[in-house]
Amino acid sequence: MDKKKIVVLGAGESGAGAAVLAKVKGFDVFVSDMSVIKDKYKDLLNKYDIAWEEKQHTYDRIIDADEVIKSPGIPDTAPLIVALTEKGTPIISEIEFAGRYTDARMICITGSNGKTTTTLLTYHILKSAGLKVGLAGNVGQSLALQVATCDYEYYVVELSSFQLDNMYDFKADIAVLLNITPDHLDRYDHKMENYIDAKFRITRNQTNDDAFVYWNDDPIINEKLRTLQLQSRVFPFSETPEADSRAYTKDNQLVINTDEETFTMSESDLALPGRHNLYNSLAAGISANLLHIEKEDIRRALSDFQAVEHRLEPVATVRGVRFINDSKATNVNSCWYALESMDTPVVLILGGKDKGNDYSEIEQLVLDKVKAIICMGIDNSKLHAFFDGKVPYIADAGSMQEAVTLAYNAAQAGDTVLLSPCCASFDLFTSYEDRGKQFKTCVRQL
Ligand code: ADP
Repeated sequence: MDKKKIVVLGAGESGAGAAVLAKVKGFDVFVSDMSVIKDKYKDLLNKYDIAWEEKQHTYDRIIDADEVIKSPGIPDTAPLIVALTEKGTPIISEIEFAGRYTDARMICITGSNGKTTTTLLTYHILKSAGLKVGLAGNVGQSLALQVATCDYEYYVVELSSFQLDNMYDFKADIAVLLNITPDHLDRYDHKMENYIDAKFRITRNQTNDDAFVYWNDDPIINEKLRTLQLQSRVFPFSETPEADSRAYTKDNQLVINTDEETFTMSESDLALPGRHNLYNSLAAGISANLLHIEKEDIRRALSDFQAVEHRLEPVATVRGVRFINDSKATNVNSCWYALESMDTPVVLILGGKDKGNDYSEIEQLVLDKVKAIICMGIDNSKLHAFFDGKVPYIADAGSMQEAVTLAYNAAQAGDTVLLSPCCASFDLFTSYEDRGKQFKTCVRQL
């Protein structure tokens, strides 16, 4: 019998990893990418003797696949995906594929905001407690590559809604859903319901041996939960004690109750500041407690974790003006948390590629805390329509250099210049990392 033909669409971190795993498992593998493939992934594919193409999709070869592993960046509306769907070819994500070949315990984290922070924090706790653990998903190496080449007993996996979209049989042993606020609606037919359903796929296939950890005060999560009959054991967390919350703060103590274990630690010992990070710490703490990690190890890891680049990252103080890089704030809700944690007047740099933003969410915080707005994008009309007249000063910048100079001029000693753009970066920058790095470079040159 012929070997099963697997086509991998997109040769980034996840696609290249999936191709290696498929090859190692003995399939006939072909990788196709519409863009130029990065050298490191070409090298990896060549090392495993995997056939690939770039800057094109050879239709006949792809349509002939028995199964397709699709990069999360490719939308379902791409003509090739439409054709494959019509033909009935199974289209899965790299995580779904990798899940077939490992018995490791999966701690999976999703949400509109806080995924990377919570994933890294959870990984840090498990790793420093000595577990054999891999970091996968949107951060670190692809899950598939690690399944092909390592023998971890645990994985902490960051899952975006796009990855969840093409998951079917995969099961998370611990699923964490941090929050749901509108994001990426352009990829979900502009229907919030579709986006919520994608996020809830993280609970798919869970049984009563598995755990579902979520934020108890999220109205969208709670409303959805009322319509579902989950098999999972549930571990909601909240800022203060609530009837069914299993983790919260009380009298300045973090309290986490899982079945047999109660964990406490002083809130002031947490490494990460801000209310949003309290939620992230609670979620990571619950997961660690469920895995029976020593309390002392959890406490130490929650208190010595290092801040993550581009997430409320302090850059420098120049003549009394503090600069903070929150380039990862690519939606309005994460900017809300950034503004909420500010304790000085703020000059806010925002703008970029708008994903259907509703700025009224941050209106009150802007009125209370923001003295100037610098709009940094190719099209700033929506920002002006909303914010003009609401702050004393508003100006446009066509580059990071200009934005930082304008912001610095608008600030005085004691103020904070906050880059928290509410938008994706792709109009002026290659990525949010590029945007954050340019910000830091410009600040350091002041
Ligand atoms: P993600 O991976 O989901 O994009 P990150 O951890 O990279 O999340 O954080 C993105 C932004 O969201 C940061 O700028 C941060 O200020 C904000 N943020 C982090 N955690 C939370 C949370 N639990 N709720 C809301 N906003 C958060």
